[in-house]
Amino acid sequence: MNFTLELRLGDVIDDFCVKCRRLTNHAIVSIIQQKPAKVRCRICYSDHDYRHEQAPPSKKDLKKAELFAQVLAQGGTPPEPGAEGAEGASADGAEAPRKRGRKKAG
Ligand SMILES: [Zn+2]
Repeated sequence: MNFTLELRLGDVIDDFCVKCRRLTNHAIVSIIQQKPAKVRCRICYSDHDYRHEQAPPSKKDLKKAELFAQVLAQGGTPPEPGAEGAEGASADGAEAPRKRGRKKAG
């Protein structure tokens, strides 16, 4: 039961840097529960939360996710009465935009 993956402050790991817009070497500057919490890019020296090597979602993706959530909300659960911020959802049975193609898993 020996975990060899023990991280230490200053260790260099790969992560996605939004400034460099690519995977770069990052030094760990903060560790929470044996996991990197904050890292510093070794290229541009900016600190940020560890992203697990994932690029942040683009604005497009955020918009898509928002729309998708709306569709889910409309088709899935009935809107709560008196829920704040009900944005003019008027037409019942309005055609929901259909999504073709699946998101790749992984
Ligand atoms: Zn960078």
